[in-house]
Amino acid sequence: MVSLFTRPEELRSKAASQVDEIYQALMAVLPELKDCHLGELLRHPVSCEASSSAVEDPISTNHVCVGDASMTVDPLASQGVHLAMTSGLQAAAAVHTLLDHPQDGAHAMSFYVDRQQERRRLYVERTAEMYWQVAQRRPSLFWTERAEKRPEPVQPISVMPLDPEDLIQLCHQSALRPTPILDDGRIRCGPALHHPNLPRPIAYVHGVPITQLLASVADPLSYGQLLANWQALLPGPIAHQTFHSLWTAGTLVRA
Ligand SMILES: Cc1cc2nc3c(=O)[nH]c(=O)nc-3n(C[C@H](O)[C@H](O)[C@H](O)COP(=O)(O)OP(=O)(O)OC[C@H]3O[C@@H](n4cnc5c(N)ncnc54)[C@H](O)[C@@H]3O)c2cc1C
Repeated sequence: MVSLFTRPEELRSKAASQVDEIYQALMAVLPELKDCHLGELLRHPVSCEASSSAVEDPISTNHVCVGDASMTVDPLASQGVHLAMTSGLQAAAAVHTLLDHPQDGAHAMSFYVDRQQERRRLYVERTAEMYWQVAQRRPSLFWTERAEKRPEPVQPISVMPLDPEDLIQLCHQSALRPTPILDDGRIRCGPALHHPNLPRPIAYVHGVPITQLLASVADPLSYGQLLANWQALLPGPIAHQTFHSLWTAGTLVRA
């Protein structure tokens, strides 16, 4: 079976026989099939919507939408199975909370909605970037229209040079706020680090509460001392990676 992707406008209000013609015409120009001897069509091709989509209300006290029923991503992403499994795990925690800890039910639903919106935003941007890359070589409407939601490229913040004596502090936009978090298979409200550049709030790093890591940065602290503190809580490479991620996101800055 060969799946072909085209603009919906090319197929709208077309009779089935015309869809056959369009399908065969597209197959005929595919370089990948140039040396293949294609036989007769065994059945009429079926066209369907393949764009990203998401339901507006993925969860309530009476229902939860999981996997494709909650959100679909552009086929270019090739991530539908991974996303379905992730949403399944999160839905299980949300349902567990709704049933066994109803006092946290609102947090559970908010957590699930936030994760769905986060995936949606991330994949809209990622696939737009993929379309943009191809559009540089093939500027047809199919590629350029789908590249439109590509985010502005961000200027990377350099990590080096940082000397061990350099003083580090939290950026004034970093804040610890009560947030619905996944903890031990259920959702509860707990502190998480928020910053405009973070794709999502951070509650734990490698199982260590973010509050514990950031306690040492309550006042400006040398880079060397901060890493030493974190290495007492996290494996060495993870401590470095964590610093790198928080620094490049701009959550930590020079004092
Ligand atoms: C052609 C194609 C290629 C793809 N390639 C990839 C890929 O390379 N990588 C990737 O990650 N993803 C890919 N995907 C996407 C991926 O298949 C889906 O995102 C993923 O399967 C979604 O999982 P799901 O459990 O939500 O839904 P599904 O896998 O669709 O499972 C839903 C199940 O529910 C059943 N069902 C529906 N209604 C009822 C009912 N009323 N009662 C009982 N059962 C019901 C269905 O029969 C089905 O078995 C592809 C999809 C397509 C169509």
